[in-house]
Amino acid sequence: MSGLRRFNELRPPERILMGPGPSNINYRVYKAMSTPILGHLDPDFMSVMDEICEMLRLVFKTRNRLTIPISGTGSSGMETAFVNLIEPEDKVIIGVNGLFGERMVDVALRCGARVFRIDEEWGKIIDPGRVVDTLVKHPDTKIFAIVHAETSTGAKQPLEEIGAFLRDKDTLFVVDAVTSLGGCELKVDEWGIDVCYSGTQKCLSVPPGLSPITLSEKALYILHSKRSRVQSWYLDLTLIERYWGEERFYHHTAPVSMLFALHEGLRIVLEEGMERRIERHQTVGDYLKTRLQELGWELFAQEGYRLPMLTSVVLPNGVDDAKLRTRLLRDYGIEIGGGLGKTKGRIWRIGLMGETCKRQNVELFLLALKELIG
Ligand code: PLP
Repeated sequence: MSGLRRFNELRPPERILMGPGPSNINYRVYKAMSTPILGHLDPDFMSVMDEICEMLRLVFKTRNRLTIPISGTGSSGMETAFVNLIEPEDKVIIGVNGLFGERMVDVALRCGARVFRIDEEWGKIIDPGRVVDTLVKHPDTKIFAIVHAETSTGAKQPLEEIGAFLRDKDTLFVVDAVTSLGGCELKVDEWGIDVCYSGTQKCLSVPPGLSPITLSEKALYILHSKRSRVQSWYLDLTLIERYWGEERFYHHTAPVSMLFALHEGLRIVLEEGMERRIERHQTVGDYLKTRLQELGWELFAQEGYRLPMLTSVVLPNGVDDAKLRTRLLRDYGIEIGGGLGKTKGRIWRIGLMGETCKRQNVELFLLALKELIG
């Protein structure tokens, strides 16, 4: 026996990705990824980089100079925000009403921050008035951070009132927009957000692997006036900004094909237009919610604050979560998400993000559901 094992060519099955991400990808994005790569310091690649930054500014609705994709998934954007701004003993307040708020707490603690939490039940929003009251009592807070679209629960956090309060304060307003960017309204400048990061695999419909981030001048001032060096070399924005800026200083080899993918993904977003795209997510998301309610399913997230691109529903008694989701995937090619953490086995999370956000996918899902549970 030669001992050599044969590895077959990849032949992944077709899927309708209606989970919490990744979403389906437009063929144009796949095509962009398969175009021949360029060197990461090639002048032609620099023009692609510049266009990506320009398009990201349009999508984030910001004029922030430092608006770039970080190499790594959405969590790399979260780490970038915290490791670049926190110094040991800094006071950081975090809104926690789901798994990703919890993750922010974990990351901030690892940076040595003194973390104070504003907790709320999963599925509910954190009352902006409560946030403002807390911030009034803690004017020495370095960062207030919150998740815009809490993917673990399906709740959409209102941000405007908090941003308006923090606008003329020293506290930085950090927002996780991993799931919201490109699928619902998000106005970084108008809402006074200082640091906002996202992920490519949700409403931008680009594979996972990059995390767009944007920093206000206030955040950049804090970054550049830090006493200590940024704790992570790889995510150090003072180095990375020199690669994305005029200097083109080598930091790490840019993931060229992923950046090609993002370039095409952003072109598609802007061709559709942000307004139309947001409206599409709202209409299709509302349709799914209405139909599920007609079938007697109870929605999990707080009424009036439900995400358009991610619908969370309570599983009716007697429905076997794992068995049903396995059958949906195996027999219908439809992926949906189960609950995370304390909602495991209790809810489903149905995503309609970017390319996946189509009425025909909702109809297919409902037909499959009918066949499976009547
Ligand atoms: N923040 C939110 C709100 C998310 O939904 C996710 C992923 O689902 C993340 C952060 C982490 O992103 P990633 O899994 O791409 O690292």
